[in-house]
Amino acid sequence: MKSLIYYGPHDLRYGDSPKPKIRSGEVLLRIKSVGICGTDLHIYNGGMKNLPLPLIMGHEFSGVIEELARDVKNFKVGDRVIAEHVINCGKCSYCLSGKPNLCANSRIIGVHRPGALAEYLAVPADLVYKIPAKLSFEEGAMIEPLSIAYYAVKQAHDLLGRKVAVIGQGPIGLLVDQILHDAGAEVIGIDIADWRLKLAKKKKWADHTINSSQKTWLKKIQKIAPEGVDTVFEVVGREETAEMAIEIARRDGDVFILGVFESAASLNMMNIVKKELNVFGSWTCAFSFPPSIALAVAKKVDLKSLITNRYDVKDGALAFKESASYKGKRIKTVINF
Ligand SMILES: [Zn+2]
Ligand SMILES: [Zn+2]
Repeated sequence: MKSLIYYGPHDLRYGDSPKPKIRSGEVLLRIKSVGICGTDLHIYNGGMKNLPLPLIMGHEFSGVIEELARDVKNFKVGDRVIAEHVINCGKCSYCLSGKPNLCANSRIIGVHRPGALAEYLAVPADLVYKIPAKLSFEEGAMIEPLSIAYYAVKQAHDLLGRKVAVIGQGPIGLLVDQILHDAGAEVIGIDIADWRLKLAKKKKWADHTINSSQKTWLKKIQKIAPEGVDTVFEVVGREETAEMAIEIARRDGDVFILGVFESAASLNMMNIVKKELNVFGSWTCAFSFPPSIALAVAKKVDLKSLITNRYDVKDGALAFKESASYKGKRIKTVINF
């Protein structure tokens, strides 16, 4: 089958790989759309060690069921589907206590085993969800990032009428904006790229937007929220933005950290101590696919507007090269089959 194969840093080639065979409990998907995310680019840039090379990446995907193992009953050939990409052990204390996203024995599709940047992918049927015809395959591939945003926002409470800042207006940040907006929060979108802020404002996902590269950024926030912001979502993963999060939060405010940090951050801890901040981490997602599909079907979130760049799988290497350059007005890149 045709695949996009990763051999090492910046070495991605369109070529042939063996078509996967399904085992019991699995379905074979014919892939339709795959989103490229930060994790994929991190791998592409050589940032992840101990990978099984060559590797087929791709963990945000949609497709059609091509074949099912005999013991799979709840799907049929031709079903339009998406799937979660984390295979948990189901046995550890985290899996058994309702936090499977913290499973210490998880295997990730597109990282530890072949992913969706290929014509076919075999996945355990219990990770698979049907999507209605109302959702395009591209939108289907966006459910995974949506579920990350959904899971983080779900941890916050009392959002109605609250002033909530979202630091970072990338794909996940813009999805966090939208879910918060739907929940009745007053959303303050923060980023350093004006064009992203403009989009958030134009689409009414954010009520206020602030460019934090400008000197007056803090004054602007203080004008909107004189006592500080009720809740902050950090969706960048850098020291400056983590510091910003604990700086703008009000006393007894909530701070959710979703950003994936590539290095340690040194913070003014007295902000946390003296303001009695409630700081939470939010890691991937759990039980978030069905509600995320529901949000998308009900048009409570606009996934389409986030897809800015599309490539045919044949041009997959170019898609990665251009995405990794972070040039241009790119939000989400999707590879289609
Ligand atoms: Zn991802
Ligand atoms: Zn587990």
